[in-house]
Amino acid sequence: MKRFSIAIALFGGMCLAVTVPAEAAPCLIVTLTGTQSGPSVFNGQAGAGTLVRYGDDSNDCAAMKLQFDAGRGTNMRLSQIDVTPVQLNAIFFTHMHGDHTEGFADIIMLRWYLKGPKIDIVCSSDATSVLGHTNSCRKYVAHIADAFLQSGEIAERRSEDNARLAGGPVDLTHVITFDPKDEPQVVWSSGDVKVSAIRSTHTAGHASYRVDTPAGSVVIGGDAGNDVLAPPRASSTSDQVEKLAKGVDIIVHSTFHPVLGPDRDSGFPPLSYYRQSLASDLGAMAKRVGAKHLMLTHLGPSLGAVIHNRWKVPGGPLTQADYRKAVEAGGFTGNTIVGTDLATLRLPAK
Ligand SMILES: [Zn+2]
Repeated sequence: MKRFSIAIALFGGMCLAVTVPAEAAPCLIVTLTGTQSGPSVFNGQAGAGTLVRYGDDSNDCAAMKLQFDAGRGTNMRLSQIDVTPVQLNAIFFTHMHGDHTEGFADIIMLRWYLKGPKIDIVCSSDATSVLGHTNSCRKYVAHIADAFLQSGEIAERRSEDNARLAGGPVDLTHVITFDPKDEPQVVWSSGDVKVSAIRSTHTAGHASYRVDTPAGSVVIGGDAGNDVLAPPRASSTSDQVEKLAKGVDIIVHSTFHPVLGPDRDSGFPPLSYYRQSLASDLGAMAKRVGAKHLMLTHLGPSLGAVIHNRWKVPGGPLTQADYRKAVEAGGFTGNTIVGTDLATLRLPAK
């Protein structure tokens, strides 16, 4: 409950200050904790991830902190906005590619070191790819600290403080898995906040998420692309993500620029190109679902990069204006944010 004072003019020119109780307004803050696309490193960019904070004016919109994906360097970016791993309420994974998961070991090791509480890890259940291998978030989490157990570090730090859990960081994790479906399903909720997931195409088990709060809503698409893996097709974007995003306020989505397409002869593998969403198609999808904000992240190619992974960017490095132009070509007239690390959006705007 927040209180504010108003001055009431009384007869005779006297002023009296009275305190009127007012409901603190709910608010939502979405921050890109990393914008790197794929396994490469470029210019200090962190790996893909999005922090969603929710609360009200009295707690700076930070009563709840949800992390979606945790690529390389996520902890470093969180530290720049004064968020420690101990404060996170849950971590969600879209898929098991390293550019979305490498930062998790760092996060969970520090949470264990600081003796933080258990945390929900939400991701899809084991999924077998058409190539026969299994993508397993469950195993990924179960083995996240094996190297530190083997090196002796876990035992050593416990000998310093045996209040740290004996099994190491894994003992802090509470894994919640779900089978991604073609319709949204609620996979996590707490108080006013509800997180839904839907199946999307990129790798077997890939999922996209939507967070609904009284202050607004955000979809985190991850690396989703269309079920039809190559042209001809209506769009490179996912029909399921579009379903999930109906009427949403903010879309956060991995983005490729058409400049990397096979027609431009960059040499970038068509298969990798086609399983992502293009900036132009994301603009068109954002328009169709009525989104107000589109946050492009995981940019392929990175802003200013001469080389993407190991392929030369045709025509030279791209600027924010190049991505914006592509989005506008898709017809989106709302607010487009071309993602850089720690780009932030608040609802309602201040
Ligand atoms: Zn990725």
